[in-house]
Amino acid sequence: MGLLETILKNVVLQDASIEKKTKISESVYKIRLKSESIKKAEFVPGYFLRLGIGIGNDDLSFKDKVRSYSVWNINKTEGYLDLAIATDSKGIGAQWAVACKENETVYFKWKKGNFLLDETADSYLMIGDLSALSHLYILKRNLPHNKQVEGLVYAQNSNDYFEDVDGSRPFNFHTLKQNPISEILNIIKEISPKLKGKIMVYIAGDSRVCIALNQYFRNELNWNTKQIKTKPFWNPDKKGLE
Ligand SMILES: Cc1cc2nc3c(=O)[nH]c(=O)nc-3n(C[C@H](O)[C@H](O)[C@H](O)COP(=O)(O)OP(=O)(O)OC[C@H]3O[C@@H](n4cnc5c(N)ncnc54)[C@H](O)[C@@H]3O)c2cc1C
Repeated sequence: MGLLETILKNVVLQDASIEKKTKISESVYKIRLKSESIKKAEFVPGYFLRLGIGIGNDDLSFKDKVRSYSVWNINKTEGYLDLAIATDSKGIGAQWAVACKENETVYFKWKKGNFLLDETADSYLMIGDLSALSHLYILKRNLPHNKQVEGLVYAQNSNDYFEDVDGSRPFNFHTLKQNPISEILNIIKEISPKLKGKIMVYIAGDSRVCIALNQYFRNELNWNTKQIKTKPFWNPDKKGLE
């Protein structure tokens, strides 16, 4: 292990133990991390972790040692949090999720970002693929009950759709190929008239979808940028993203 990696592991990152790992759909794993530090963590729905999945593996390049995963659920009293990791990418993050074992130690850093819970709208439209589903779930669960929330979640395989931690499936699921912009736009046109009052849209996952929908809401519907929240989680031409 090089000096930079040793500093990262011992100074920058916190550690947690994998308390439980569960396969929750055809290609998605739920991973529960437990640590004393989680009991004291400052948390806002939308925070994510930089997980040092490749720390200690000298065969990996530095940029392949870390991947980002959204916090799907947190229990500060018990000191645990849950992640949902999609493995269709088959990269080092996916390989780690398939191979990791309960009781192993992982290293992580909290990240805040700006793809966070915002309660200022009356109605919400949430759009994303499997990589974004846990992030959309935690935002939905933490919105006040009087808010209207419509969801558009898609994957290529219906066996991949997993339920939220409370057993609910609050979003409409669609079986769609990758980068299905025109299909998504058709579905948005069906949903939009149902949205009441001040509207906000959250879009996450495939960067191509984030860009195309951001343009659609801004340029065609003339929405204010404050109404449009996007967060690319992956890009077909890149490994990792943030
Ligand atoms: C803020 C943030 C939060 C994130 N939260 C989550 C999360 O909660 N759950 C989660 O699963 N991922 C999440 N991601 C994505 C995650 O960080 C990784 O990018 C993803 O797991 C792919 O990593 P990898 O090492 O397996 O593949 P990489 O080596 O990064 O990529 C290999 C190839 O797979 C493609 N690819 C990457 N992701 C996908 C995908 N989902 N479907 C199809 N092809 C893909 C890449 O474009 C590349 O061509 C998040 C990303 C960000 C920036």
